[in-house]
Amino acid sequence: MEQAKLESKVLSILEDKIQLIKTSEEGGIYLVGPIRLPVNLYGETVVFRWYCWLQRDIITDDYEEIIEKLSSDNLAEYQQSSVLVYGDFEYNEDALIRMHSICHTGDIFGSKRCDCGFQLKQSMKMIKEHGTGALFYLANHEGRGIGLFSKAMAYVLQENGYDTVEANLNLGFVDDSRNYEDAIHVLKALRKKPVTLITNNPKKLEALKNSGMHLSGRTPLWGDVSEFNENYLKTKVARSGHLQEEEGCLNG
Ligand SMILES: [Zn+2]
Repeated sequence: MEQAKLESKVLSILEDKIQLIKTSEEGGIYLVGPIRLPVNLYGETVVFRWYCWLQRDIITDDYEEIIEKLSSDNLAEYQQSSVLVYGDFEYNEDALIRMHSICHTGDIFGSKRCDCGFQLKQSMKMIKEHGTGALFYLANHEGRGIGLFSKAMAYVLQENGYDTVEANLNLGFVDDSRNYEDAIHVLKALRKKPVTLITNNPKKLEALKNSGMHLSGRTPLWGDVSEFNENYLKTKVARSGHLQEEEGCLNG
């Protein structure tokens, strides 16, 4: 079927806001943005700059070809990751970074089984107060990379006495299968200088260093402990090597 051609005005607007930031044998990563995004952060309106990225198996700087193909791909069936940027991110000496793993139950529903929703908002607040930073929202990291359906099954096991790590292992998953490579390519496209990572998880710090991120330090992020997530947070410390509590949804 013949695909509709983009109007030249539409194309010229979009071409200014799309860049091909990485190419490899698997394809390219296309970044769109910045888009002005005013956000309600604890009752205050804070303006972030928002970018979204997409991996495609085609490598081209003819963005018309990419855009025209998207209308026939069912992108809503897949999650795309994105990043909220604040302040003079490219040039400021000091920038706070949060690599936030998507948590459908915590971020969207406000589930108290984990502390993800709290961490998401709190890290946005820390970035704003610091003056420069970026929050990466990683859409393929649900349940530490096992996906939402498997996370629901892990919750069923947890309701039957398994801890969060045991539940994942019993479903045939490794404890943590998250990958940060694409996010780091995006980070490098937006900033060359080192960053301070908001995390309590030394493994995450190590994973990011190994993927080539230039780190200048770590800022911890704790809070929102309740009777509902106490065991989950303890497991993070006892089983997953977390420095005290926190980090990436281990499936509450
Ligand atoms: Zn969570």
